[in-house]
This record gives sequence, C-alpha cells and structure tokens, in this order.
Amino acid sequence: MNDALPVLAVVGRPNVGKSTLVNRILGRREAVVEDIPGVTRDRVSYDAEWNGRAFTLVDTGGWDPDARGMAERIRVQAEIAVSLADAVLFVVDAAIGITDADEAVVRVLRKSGKPVVLAANKVDDERAEAEAFALWNLGLGEPHVVSALHGRGSGDLLDAVLEVLPEAPEQEREIGGPRRIAIVGRPNVGKSSLLNKLAGEERVVVDNVAGTTVDPVDELVELGGQTWRFIDTAGIRKRVKEASGHEYYAWLRTSTAIERAEVCVIVLAGNESIAEQDMRILQEVREAGKALVIAFNKWDLVDAERRYYLDREIERDLVQVQWAPRINITARTGWHIDRLVPALDRAIEGWETRISTGALNAFLGRIVAEHPHPVRGGKQPRILFGSQVSSAPPVFKLFTTGRLDQGYERFIERRLREEFGFVGTPIEIKVQPRE
Ligand code: GDP
Ligand code: GDP
Repeated sequence: MNDALPVLAVVGRPNVGKSTLVNRILGRREAVVEDIPGVTRDRVSYDAEWNGRAFTLVDTGGWDPDARGMAERIRVQAEIAVSLADAVLFVVDAAIGITDADEAVVRVLRKSGKPVVLAANKVDDERAEAEAFALWNLGLGEPHVVSALHGRGSGDLLDAVLEVLPEAPEQEREIGGPRRIAIVGRPNVGKSSLLNKLAGEERVVVDNVAGTTVDPVDELVELGGQTWRFIDTAGIRKRVKEASGHEYYAWLRTSTAIERAEVCVIVLAGNESIAEQDMRILQEVREAGKALVIAFNKWDLVDAERRYYLDREIERDLVQVQWAPRINITARTGWHIDRLVPALDRAIEGWETRISTGALNAFLGRIVAEHPHPVRGGKQPRILFGSQVSSAPPVFKLFTTGRLDQGYERFIERRLREEFGFVGTPIEIKVQPRE
C-alpha cells in the first residue's frame, strides 16, 4: 500500500520455510503457513519493520509443492518477485542443500542484478551449521544461518537485509515516461483479446516451451498518441496462463501487476453476473491505491434483459468503486475500444489531483457549517485543519478534536468528490485527533 517503502521479496522452493520466516520477520505468532496445497492466500505483501526502518515484505510462499512443472513455476515466481522487489531474500533449506530448482532461481537472481541476501534455513542448532557451508557454492556470498522456526539468527539476517535494501524504492517512471497500466480480471473475461486488439495481433509474445529465453514481462504499446507500459503481458497472454493453472499463482501475478501499475483496467464479462472474484480484484486495486477503469467486455452478448440485471448488479456490487469510469466494449471486434484511452486519462487525472491547503480548508469550513458532525456523548468533534498530504492516490489528513464517525468520513469523501472530481481514484482520509 505504501508506495514510498522499499520492497523485499522472499523467494525460494516450497517447504524451505519462507512462510515461517515471514511470520518471524513480522513478529507474529499465528502462522500464515497452510498445510493444504493450493490454498489461496489473500495477502501477498505486508508492512514490516526492523530497527526502525520500514519496508514492504512480499511473501511468495503458498505454492503447491506437488504441482507439475514446479521448476518452471519457481523460476517464473522468482522473475515476478525480482521485477517487483528492490532486494531479494533467497531462502534455502540447509538440511537438504542445493537442488536444481535452487540453481534455477540463482540464475534469475543473478541476471536481475538486484541485491540478494541468502538465508540458510532450518539450522536449528550449532551442529547443523556445518551443512550451511556448502551454500557458499551458490556464489551469492555469505549464507546467513537461521532457524525460522526457533528464531535463531533472524536478527542478524535482517541486519544484512537492511544493509542491501535501498532507503527508498527506485522510481520506475521517469517524469514523462510511459504510464504503467495493468489489465486485470478473472480468466476468460477477454483480457488477452483486449490486449491483442490494443497491441496488434502480430505482437504476441513468442512461445518458447523450453523456457530458455525470458519473455519480456511488460510490453510497450502506443495508444492515442502516448506510449503505455502494459504490465505483465506475459501473464495475460495464453502461454503462461496455460502453464500456470494454479489459483494462488494467478492471484500472486494479478496482485503484483496491480502493485506495479499506476492505472488498472479491470475487465468484466458483461454477459455474466459480477462474480466474487471480480470484487476481490477491485478491492485489491482500491487497497493498493491505484487509478481504475472498469471495462464491461463481450458487449455483443449483452441484450436488453441482461442490461437490466447488470444495472442492478452495478448498483449493488460496485458501490465501493462508483467513482471509476466505466466503458462497454467488445474486445473481439474492437467495438468502442477507442473509449479506453479517454477513460484512462480521466482516471489518471483524478488520481494525480492535488488540492491546495487553502482551497481544502475553505471547502472543509463550508461543509462543516452546512453539515456539522453529530454530537456524541455530549461532545462534538470539530475539524481544525486539513491538508492533502500526497497524491497518486490522494491522501488527506484531518486534524480534529476527536474521532469522527465512519458515516461522517464517508460524507466528507463524497463531498470531496463532488467538489474536486477525483474520478477514477480511491481516496484515503486519515483523521488525527488532538490528544
Ligand atoms: P514455505 O513453503 O517455503 O513457505 O515453507 P513453510 O514456512 O511452510 O515451512 C515448511 C515446513 O518447514 C513447515 O513444516 C515448517 O514448520 C518447517 N520449518 C520452517 N522453518 C524451519 C526451521 O527453521 N527449522 C525446522 N526444523 N523446520 C522449519
Ligand atoms: P482472458 O482469459 O481474460 O485473457 O480471456 P480471452 O481473451 O482468452 O477470452 C476468452 C474467450 O472469450 C475467448 O473465447 C474469446 O474469443 C472470447 N471473447 C473475448 N472478448 C470477447 C467479446 O468481446 N465478445 C465475445 N462474444 N467473446 C469474446
């Protein structure tokens, strides 16, 4: 959620203890560790802190160890993690030693040039330390011996991580560089059809079964006179989709693409009911604080009756993202695809809107006079001062004399949108009561 924090990705084979180590780093007792293979875990990234320094921890655990094509998946997983992270924590099971899959990961890590810290896990006692020496052979420098289970060595490991983790994440986009856009949605809604129409059929990523060449994960596409960077097109295109077939894998990819994007296009099947999974993706976009456009695809299959029900579904299921521009398209024929860029432009404009402190406080004064906060227990919290502390997405901080009702916060958000637009962007309001 916090864009300004450096990102550390935890990578490694299944069962080496990644999740256990993540829990250890987060200082949690309850285990995220799931014994059921293929279980979908919602959260992938967490806010973490060590020695007063905050960073985002991305957990790439939760893999089905029995899945076919595991080595290939681990390689792809490592590539995703590396593309998103500022540094990598590579976990190896010291008791088992180096496997082929470990070596495949090492090649990806080396190629990336990102800083890597090597954790030799499951070194539960001094006796086991000797085994970790073999890991020098990986060529990743010192293996830091740890026991994620017992906490042994985890402090030293984190010290080593902080040494290589940059203070602030690298800015991916130079000013005026291509916008980062992610096409997201559940399977079969028409994402690759849309991408193919936008990018041109002939630009389909080369299918290389042997996996010797690394597919470009992103693609630059020119639309409406601007260049856009489409995030993780490899994940949208057929090849990887068929290679994966794993729900958690798909989710990791989606949520990583959202995290990397500035603006997301969620593709929904207009001819089908809005699904739980659609709403989950929308929620992820909202929580990640990204600009959003909603595209109802397969409009050629939407008749008057379906339209009637869809309007009701939109009212019921999309209240949380009412602010997002909506377009109706038929990716298969290209119908109305030209409406995408104007919608993206509007969403990005709203996302980047900045209101001056003067204008914001004049506005706050006006709405509070019109509609004061209800009295609670004889007290009436007052808003003393407000400021937009950041944009992309817009975040507001309100200094008050007490906590505000949820309903009142929603009222402020609604009025902010009426007054200043903020089309296509989530808004965050932070309330700071004076003690
Ligand atoms: P992941 O698949 O890499 O996320 O691995 P998990 O965190 O799920 O751990 C796999 C198994 O190894 C679990 O049964 C853990 O309890 C165990 N494990 C994790 N860390 C250690 C450790 O330091 N020592 C020992 N002995 N077992 C561990
Ligand atoms: P993805 O899994 O989200 O990438 O979806 P695909 O692009 O592979 O599309 C899934 C199926 O829906 C394919 O059979 C497409 O031909 C079909 N499809 C995609 N867009 C449209 C559309 O606008 N109208 C209709 N009728 N079918 C579509």
